[in-house]
Amino acid sequence: MTNTPPVCNYEGSDYQTSFWDQGGREYEDRAEAIALKRMLPKSGKLMLELGAGAGRNTLRYAGFERVILLDYSSTQLEQAQQRLGRSDRYIFVAADIYRLPFLDGLFDAATMIRALHHMADAPKALEQVKHVLQPGAIFILEFANKLNLKAILRYVLRRQKWSPFTLEPVEFVELNFDFHPKAIRNWLVELGFSIDKILTVSHFRIGWMKRLIPPRLLASLDGLFQPTGALFQVTPSVFVKSRVNGAMQKTEIPTDVVALFKCPECGSGNLLDKSDHLQCPQCKSKWAVKDGIYDFRTNT
Ligand SMILES: [Zn+2]
Repeated sequence: MTNTPPVCNYEGSDYQTSFWDQGGREYEDRAEAIALKRMLPKSGKLMLELGAGAGRNTLRYAGFERVILLDYSSTQLEQAQQRLGRSDRYIFVAADIYRLPFLDGLFDAATMIRALHHMADAPKALEQVKHVLQPGAIFILEFANKLNLKAILRYVLRRQKWSPFTLEPVEFVELNFDFHPKAIRNWLVELGFSIDKILTVSHFRIGWMKRLIPPRLLASLDGLFQPTGALFQVTPSVFVKSRVNGAMQKTEIPTDVVALFKCPECGSGNLLDKSDHLQCPQCKSKWAVKDGIYDFRTNT
């Protein structure tokens, strides 16, 4: 095993139910849907959904022929599978984002929503994403913004020690990071992305507003303000649409699922399909396939 940064594990978590379904976050979910709709290409072939969790956003990628849901937690993926059903359209992959098990230059789009938040080494994670994207591919990234209005006020009033104005990430709870918008832009540009669009999201993540104003209305209001993200970003959540530099080539994407993968241990393609596992022809690593979930977390 190569050394990779620690990962935040949602294994066995009821995150979908406690945070999204019962957590009073309908407003945030609807506001994200509006932002996504403004950024997603109308159609595409193969989408990589990084940190897919229980598949909350997956149905929003309807324009894509196939979607790979990637998460570190297989129990989250099981919930996604229950929600979406098993079909050729959805491919479920449990893997570490720092060791992506895909061939280079494969995807024509990727999203990472509420996932970078848990990355101790964000530039390294983004670099892995870049590798698996085609030239011209779209990448939609959501990040938690340290330069948010609440943090600025708290800092100015001396209720908070860390500065929201500096570029380094802040880890406010273990494995929960907020990022400076400029740091994110710098990383993306250094990796060879160009930035197409920035939308600010969750302008009204304020207790009393969420209690008083129906989520649908509040999300519509949010939608009105999202384009101000082009000018400045002081919301808790920011969406960035970027594009891998270079012209899109008409690369054939294999229809056979196994042909999409590479061994995360040694990088070899051509994994052998042994029905309950995939075997690497090079280093002989075995990767479990169980109940429709490809598991690249540990070599079995
Ligand atoms: Zn291998």
